[in-house]
Amino acid sequence: MSDHYQTLGVSRDASQDEIKKAYRKLARTLHPDVSTGPGSEDQFKSVSAAYDVLGDPAKRAAYDRGADGLGGAGYGQGFSFSDIMDAFFGGQGAPDRGPRSRMRRGQDALIRLQVDLAEATFGGEREIAVETAVRCETCHGEGAQPGTGTRRCDVCGGSGEVQHVQRSFLGQVMTTRPCSACRGYGSVIEHPCVQCSGEGRVRSRRTLTLRVPAGVDTGTRIQLAGEGEVGIAGGPPGDLYVEIVVAQHPTFIRRGDDLHARIAVPMTAAALGTTLTLESLDGVQTLEIEAGTQSGDTITLRGLGVTHLRGAGRGDLVVDVEVETPRGLDDEQRRLLGQLAALRGEERPEGRLAQHGGSLFGKLRDVLSGK
Ligand code: ZN
Repeated sequence: MSDHYQTLGVSRDASQDEIKKAYRKLARTLHPDVSTGPGSEDQFKSVSAAYDVLGDPAKRAAYDRGADGLGGAGYGQGFSFSDIMDAFFGGQGAPDRGPRSRMRRGQDALIRLQVDLAEATFGGEREIAVETAVRCETCHGEGAQPGTGTRRCDVCGGSGEVQHVQRSFLGQVMTTRPCSACRGYGSVIEHPCVQCSGEGRVRSRRTLTLRVPAGVDTGTRIQLAGEGEVGIAGGPPGDLYVEIVVAQHPTFIRRGDDLHARIAVPMTAAALGTTLTLESLDGVQTLEIEAGTQSGDTITLRGLGVTHLRGAGRGDLVVDVEVETPRGLDDEQRRLLGQLAALRGEERPEGRLAQHGGSLFGKLRDVLSGK
């Protein structure tokens, strides 16, 4: 028996699309209605026979393993009507008919992954467990018990569809419906794989390593092409999407790629000035509190925020200072503060209304409204 790949003039790893194109090209020149060349009818038959096998992924896979002539397909019997139509009408206008392929692309999957703020800032690698469908190794995705294959459907003769002729006063009306015996596949799996019940895939739990890029935020989706479930009957896998959820940090609030923190400073330190330390994502930072610092003043530590997901650089760490007014004064403290007030002429202060946009109220308002 001649090699089907040779007959169609395609390589053994040709895609289904390439096979279809090669077949159409040959059918166009060799079809008995078109060609009168010697031997072209026989050639057309062998081309059709080759396409009958290679054009069907399941039959092709069986052929590749050396099991030819599944279901006793006769020469030129198996090609579908629509492919002939396609050959002559270029695939346009000809209805999409013929046996359906069992193969389906697998579904995309979405999982959520919680990362902490440091991971979101610096990126990293995570092992994730994925519950998904993988190819059945018993039947190699075909759905038939090893050593068995598919049989041409007796009801539709392999075309996957049945035609009904109805008489009406307009004449005969022909309608086509998918064959119910084979569900339109044109072939029947006689002995479904025990392992996968004929689906060609089994559920499995596997772990994979995910690279979390620096700069992700809640809602960022990372696409892992081909890591979704595999399709039915050895169909190509879908994609896996990992949606990031960044866990709330106990002290930092993220706004865009900036981080905001609040630091409380005693009134005396705010008045006299001091140096504080602050634990940032990058380690301990020194914070200069200048003499006369007001509640609502901000100190910006450049480049200590979250990495920009796109582009270079990082946001800032913005520290909002909150001046703490002392409470629960004892007699000695009350006396000292009274002395200070007297020295500053503040024993009977007059309230001054702040202007809108003025530093104190403007900043406080921003802090309270979360800007
Ligand atoms: Zn199986």
